[in-house]
Amino acid sequence: MTDFSKTRAMFDIPEGMIYLNGNSLGPMPKVAPERMTRFLQDEWRTELIRGWNTKGWWMQTNTLGDRVAKLIGAAPGTTVVSDTLSIKVFQAVGAALALVPDRKVILSDNGNFPSDLYIAQGLIKFKDAGYELRAPEPEEVLANITEEVGVVMLTEVDYRTGRKHDMAKIISRAHEVGAVVVWDLAHSAGAIPVDVAGLDADFAIGCTYKYLNAGPGAPAFIYVAPRLIDQVEPVLSGWYGHEAPFAFETTYRPAPSKIERMRIGTPSIAAFTLLDAALDIWEGVDLQDLHAETIELSELFIKEVEARCPGVTFAGPRDPAQRGGHVALRYENSYALMQALIARKVIGDFREPDTMRFGITPLFINESDILEAVSRMEDILATDAWKSPEYQVKAAVT
Ligand SMILES: *Cc1c(COP(=O)(O)O)cnc(C)c1O
Repeated sequence: MTDFSKTRAMFDIPEGMIYLNGNSLGPMPKVAPERMTRFLQDEWRTELIRGWNTKGWWMQTNTLGDRVAKLIGAAPGTTVVSDTLSIKVFQAVGAALALVPDRKVILSDNGNFPSDLYIAQGLIKFKDAGYELRAPEPEEVLANITEEVGVVMLTEVDYRTGRKHDMAKIISRAHEVGAVVVWDLAHSAGAIPVDVAGLDADFAIGCTYKYLNAGPGAPAFIYVAPRLIDQVEPVLSGWYGHEAPFAFETTYRPAPSKIERMRIGTPSIAAFTLLDAALDIWEGVDLQDLHAETIELSELFIKEVEARCPGVTFAGPRDPAQRGGHVALRYENSYALMQALIARKVIGDFREPDTMRFGITPLFINESDILEAVSRMEDILATDAWKSPEYQVKAAVT
């Protein structure tokens, strides 16, 4: 059994704060400052350019990719980290489209994270070849996977409601009609068990600053099924993915049969340092244990809110097997209630039009946090504290 009191002790969370926003930005691992100082002092300052060889910087895209791979059920050598998730959406969907050249439809859903939809729209405009994006209701996706569809682009866990797509069903239907699937695991990696290899996924992408706790703007990852890597055409064909980067040839040739071809340009080694430190926490964690604990804490949270917080309603699927790692709630003024909670150091966030999100992350949240968070919400409601004018003003980041 995973010892969650041990993982909890590995995070530096401010005194008195109940941090229910690990689904959006994970908290800082205690070792992060020391690891960053060590990188600055013992790597950048002293090694300078030699660090690419002597400190293994050049291949950290892959060595860290292999560590992320373990958390999504991928084999070593199939995942690399770098860049941002939006770039990975472009990279994966662009490569997927090239695998099905005679098909013009990208199928997503209208609950997908906007950046994924925007990137697909931009890619379509850029290609200027009659491509079309379809975004039906999430429940309608399966029925919309027809022979017209080239690429299915979905986020497994809905960023608002926490509703989970059935990856196995969607992949098998897509493969039946000859479509390629790109999975965005932004709200899955580190939240729930994922098995990209077992499910025969084609492409998977995600970020490391949410449930993986690698810090604001931490690198993204991309997985490509080994059976596809030979045929994959990198649309973002940068020198870091070239077969012989240091030959400095004038013509691009992708690294043969290797995930290296999905690398683009020079990554941030400082950001990699934080990712490496954050991934250490996962060494003693069993994802099945984590999921069981997420369900237990989420069910407790929902039950207590419904019993003690009049007017607050649950806004996700009732069956915990159909959810990811966060709980969505609604209130008559969700934004103001969330601001009042934040003022009382219960940190969650708000998503338009009316959703309060609470990340249930057993690595650093336990039962007493859940009960205390609900008590603070109960008090805010009983005293109408959320009606205070300062809670009505929207900040740039909600
Ligand atoms: C968080 C998230 C993003 C954010 O992309 P960035 O490029 O890191 O800003 C994109 N897609 C999904 C599904 C997300 O949850």
